Amino acid sequence: MTESTAKDTIYYEAHGNLYLNITNKCSASCVFCIRDFSDGVYGYNLRLSHEPTVDEIISELETLDLSKYKEVVFTGFGEPTIRLDEMVEVTRWLTERNVTVRLDTNGHANLINPDRDVVSELKYAGMSAVSVSLNAESEELYNELCRPIYDNSYQAMLDFTREALDAGIHIRMTVVGVPEIDIEKCERIAHDIGADFHVR
Ligand code: SF4
Repeated sequence: MTESTAKDTIYYEAHGNLYLNITNKCSASCVFCIRDFSDGVYGYNLRLSHEPTVDEIISELETLDLSKYKEVVFTGFGEPTIRLDEMVEVTRWLTERNVTVRLDTNGHANLINPDRDVVSELKYAGMSAVSVSLNAESEELYNELCRPIYDNSYQAMLDFTREALDAGIHIRMTVVGVPEIDIEKCERIAHDIGADFHVR
């Protein structure tokens, strides 16, 4: 595995993918969030001293052979859609180089960016797939487990998922395998929406 030469880990490799870590901010505070138990994943410290600019991200990407990855994934220690402009610009740059790009998100993008048409912007930039954290079978449980900062986050997450599906983006909904949730019910919700389902 190769680590970023910069002080901060803007990217890291795992599972044949390249993961991008562009923010430590999030619109939720999940009880199972790895940020509360660790400084990173796979031995990489994902705590950022500053949020990287588009130029910084692209300079790092230019040092890599991007053709060797299955996907480049916006994920990391925060919610990528908090940095929508930067994400869209980097997605466009990657798409122009025939790289498959995925977003891992909590699905709050329309609440975080109320004046934007997030799904259209993602689609237009070339985003191929989105993995949305469903995390619970009911709004009540979701609020308990994810402690979102916005009201109606659960519904907004479901609406965002449907919108992205309608736009032709491949969607997977995920849950963390914690005892509090009913995984079968969550899987049914995902499949009823038309999304794939994954326990992470
Ligand atoms: S949405 Fe993701 S990054 Fe945000 S608190 Fe939950 S697990 Fe952590």
